[in-house]
Amino acid sequence: MAVINSIADRQGEMRGWRHLLHQHPETSYEEIWTSDFIAEKLTSFGIEVHRGMGKTGVVGVLRGTGDSDTAIGLRADMDGLPMQEMNSFAHKSETPGRMHACGHDGHCTMLLGAAQYLAETRNFDGTVYFIFQPAEEGGGGGEAMIKDGLFEQFQMRTVWGMHNWPGMDVGKVGVHHGACMAAADMFEIQLTGVGGHAAMPHMGVDPIPCGAALVQSLQTIVSRRVPAMQPAVVSVTIFESGSAFNVTPDVVRLGGTARSFCPEIRSLLQTAIQDLAENTARAYGCAIDFDWRPGYPPTVNHADEANRAAAIAGSIVGADNILTNPDPSMGAEDFAFMLQEKPGAYIWLGAGPAKKGAMLHNTKYDFNDEVLATGASYWARLVESELPK
Ligand SMILES: [Zn+2]
Ligand SMILES: [Zn+2]
Repeated sequence: MAVINSIADRQGEMRGWRHLLHQHPETSYEEIWTSDFIAEKLTSFGIEVHRGMGKTGVVGVLRGTGDSDTAIGLRADMDGLPMQEMNSFAHKSETPGRMHACGHDGHCTMLLGAAQYLAETRNFDGTVYFIFQPAEEGGGGGEAMIKDGLFEQFQMRTVWGMHNWPGMDVGKVGVHHGACMAAADMFEIQLTGVGGHAAMPHMGVDPIPCGAALVQSLQTIVSRRVPAMQPAVVSVTIFESGSAFNVTPDVVRLGGTARSFCPEIRSLLQTAIQDLAENTARAYGCAIDFDWRPGYPPTVNHADEANRAAAIAGSIVGADNILTNPDPSMGAEDFAFMLQEKPGAYIWLGAGPAKKGAMLHNTKYDFNDEVLATGASYWARLVESELPK
């Protein structure tokens, strides 16, 4: 693999940063220690630092040689997850109930490694913005930075993202020419009947059969309503009700997520879920509160930028190791908001085989340090290629 030698030389230093970040996971908009660490590192590299955008976001500004006014943005996410780490190695999380289980510690490290190299070499003409965003895991930190003026204050032509990808071998890179991650919307449904004695259900309106019927009906949306060639998922993930063996409850609370790629299917899912919920409630004599919460839009790469990303990644891992348009993920990613504003591409960096305990969001996951130099080299070469001297 043609990683940049002087980046490979700082592998030990990068691993040290990564392990420190892993020990200090912080969740959405609480990335205080993390953003301090990143700002301090960028400053030590001689990079101008701006803070506070999207609450805890950090933007580093590095100008190359020459007088080009072209600029690009490279983005990493900083947040960990509200879950308990089950690893026992020395760099495990020091905060109970908090864990870097998605590898954002590695993402920050790779971008810092590239920033350090680029600040030393400045083998480019133009400006690079290092964007460290908060709250990728559901908090919409990318969108928050945009609302705080990310693209007004820092005018950039293109924006680029990357995620480590367990399930794809180390040394491979996945590049999509269109959608790579799904839209993720949420629904919450409250069915209200009339509770009472479980021995005399006819004296009330039991919401539990209504909820059970609704769950079954919701599972027909993807199989019966969505065209077979269109990817979609409807998952009911919350079903809460009841407190005693001999009491029929007043209320059932249901919640879940709907995943899709194209706008037509996204709105079909919303309409179908709401229709089924309202009509099932009516059929069973329950009242209903229906709440639809739009989440992240689909993450859609721009074709030209995806081509250029593939060429740069190919120069590092070898063109044969670029996987073009692997199956997209039904997971979601808030880099989607940035790609709605600016052309760019988001790549998957192979992080090892799919095995139990090694996958994203698992309590035993750990970012694979083997890929640090590859990811940092990609960022560095991307800057040198997009902002040529
Ligand atoms: Zn995640
Ligand atoms: Zn992630």
